[in-house]
Amino acid sequence: MTTSAPLEVSPIEVRHLIGGRWLPGAGEERQNPARPGEVVSTSPDGDSSLVEDAVTRACDAFPEWAQTPAPMRGELLRRAADLLEARADRAARTLSREEGKTLREAGDEVGRGVRMLRFYAGETWRLGGITLPSMTPRTELSTVREPLGAVGIITPWNFPVAIPVWKTAPALAAGNTVVLKPASLTAASTAVVAECLVDAGLPAGVFNLVYGSGARVGEALVTDERIAAISFTGSTAVGRRVNELAARRMARVQLELGGKNTMVVLPDADPEQAADLCVRGAFGLTGQACTATSRVIVLPENEEAVIEALRRQTSALAVGDGLDEGTQMGPVVSHQQLATDLRYVGEALADGATLEAGGDHSDLFMRPTLLSRVGPQSAIAQEEVFGPVLAVVTVQDAAEALAVANNTPYGLVTGIITNDLAAAMEFSRGAQAGVVKVNRLTTGTDVNAPFGGVKASSNDLFREQGVTAMEFYTRVKTVYLGY
Ligand code: NAD
Repeated sequence: MTTSAPLEVSPIEVRHLIGGRWLPGAGEERQNPARPGEVVSTSPDGDSSLVEDAVTRACDAFPEWAQTPAPMRGELLRRAADLLEARADRAARTLSREEGKTLREAGDEVGRGVRMLRFYAGETWRLGGITLPSMTPRTELSTVREPLGAVGIITPWNFPVAIPVWKTAPALAAGNTVVLKPASLTAASTAVVAECLVDAGLPAGVFNLVYGSGARVGEALVTDERIAAISFTGSTAVGRRVNELAARRMARVQLELGGKNTMVVLPDADPEQAADLCVRGAFGLTGQACTATSRVIVLPENEEAVIEALRRQTSALAVGDGLDEGTQMGPVVSHQQLATDLRYVGEALADGATLEAGGDHSDLFMRPTLLSRVGPQSAIAQEEVFGPVLAVVTVQDAAEALAVANNTPYGLVTGIITNDLAAAMEFSRGAQAGVVKVNRLTTGTDVNAPFGGVKASSNDLFREQGVTAMEFYTRVKTVYLGY
């Protein structure tokens, strides 16, 4: 575990963006999780009156933005993509310092944001409806997709560039205006996206940004009657609350929540290659991804070989400052998250699990932790940890592996490693998850593919990303035109 000398960089002062104006405000300091004492950013702490202003500006800007020809909206998104690409180094460094992920991981995230902006810029050329034969003579029957209005977006700290982009870009492409409330922990990283949208020439009020506490600013946004829809990504507990508040006023709501993602390793798989996929899926991004591998399921035939490969590869990971070359895993994001990670490890050991690697920490640098002989019903096998902790569960056969993989409250990503096509197909068909990965990392998705969960991982009404995302941000109008 390494920590370099502090950088000579003054804190980034993050501001709200309302009606095209950047507004300062007293607020929170964010320290670099890898360098205690180094303040990366200060972000303002908004209140409900600020949310009211932002919603007013978003509503005022809506009619003109909705009537702007869609490909011209796309042109602005494309320009924002070019700007984010040009600023990628700064964005990645800010992200690494603020959240703790490695510079390579941060660069990948920014690159994903760029691709998302380009993808939805392209979608503005395809915002079509359908035509249908009418049973009434001389009647043209067709549908159009219309934007909803001013929409609210609430995002977590773990992908503070990519998630705001993958929600905002389809919203704007469809002709909605946006009020975004990102996580304060990673305020400066999201601010880079906002700057790119503004500098691309987005009209004032089309995109607004308000920082502050979830309970105050987040709830003010969700409960504002003028907000046509809410897209939320975060924990399942907060998602439930958002769902209740939105349901009271019958607002459209999209929730993408936690996960307990599993990788099954069948005995025909090479243990070394399988361990590589599991270790990268579990400890990449410090395990702080909704799609992180958090359980590996093995059978008696391969238990020993897989655990041995997992132990070796896990112990070999270099933990350190995300900005240092050679670091493979950055620090945990906060002391609160570290306490959660350590509590789960302690409980697992008390429940009879075996510690194969890690389990300890120095400051926020937690060593990647591997536990075996984990009971499928124990808390570590059922609940989302959101840290660098991987639990190995042993079952008797492939059928039980599928049953155990499905037997959690969550249903985001499930994977299997095997060359047996029939086993892979059966697993894929039987998996209770929004995404299935065969011989691929549980983490990472392509921008053109739908993404989302089932069960407690989502409210399962709309998918994000890809063309599918446009469904959430539009409604269908049916037109009968007699002539
Ligand atoms: P969180 O639920 O604590 O916070 C998410 C956002 O909601 C933050 O902006 C927060 O300020 C806001 N918020 C908090 N209370 C609120 C309230 N009462 N009303 C409105 N908004 C409120 O989540 P987090 O700790 O920032 O992120 C980690 C969680 O996000 C994990 O559970 C992870 O699995 C999940 N996540 C899911 C996905 C996905 O696509 N499924 C992607 C990334 C992260």
